[in-house]
Amino acid sequence: MPSWTLHTEFKFDAAHFLEGYEGKCGRMHGHSYKVHIAATSNQLNPSKYLDSADMVCDFHELKWAAKGSEKGGLDHSVLNEELPVNPTAERIAEFIHKETLQRIPDGIKLNVTVWETENSWVEYTDEDGEN
Ligand SMILES: [Zn+2]
Repeated sequence: MPSWTLHTEFKFDAAHFLEGYEGKCGRMHGHSYKVHIAATSNQLNPSKYLDSADMVCDFHELKWAAKGSEKGGLDHSVLNEELPVNPTAERIAEFIHKETLQRIPDGIKLNVTVWETENSWVEYTDEDGEN
């Protein structure tokens, strides 16, 4: 079976604090988050901007989170207001995974990596999460 994997990276700046955390992460502070998304599909699809079935999905649709929060993204947002759960890096990756799946065609498997600092990152995927 053929398989294509798109890779894209982007950054966004955001504030957060961890509710209930004993220590400095419990106070409001900011990070420059880096995100890597890998999108794998066994078939090619059309997109909003391309009628023929020749892409996994549009790169734009993978990068929605890089937009400002007034445009539905996460840049310059307070993550505690954007996520329904405590905004740890783990939960941010899960949130981006879930929100991205809603913006792309069916049958694409996503792998989302979120760097909170240069040396600390988390990878999230969901085997049952294909839409
Ligand atoms: Zn933090």
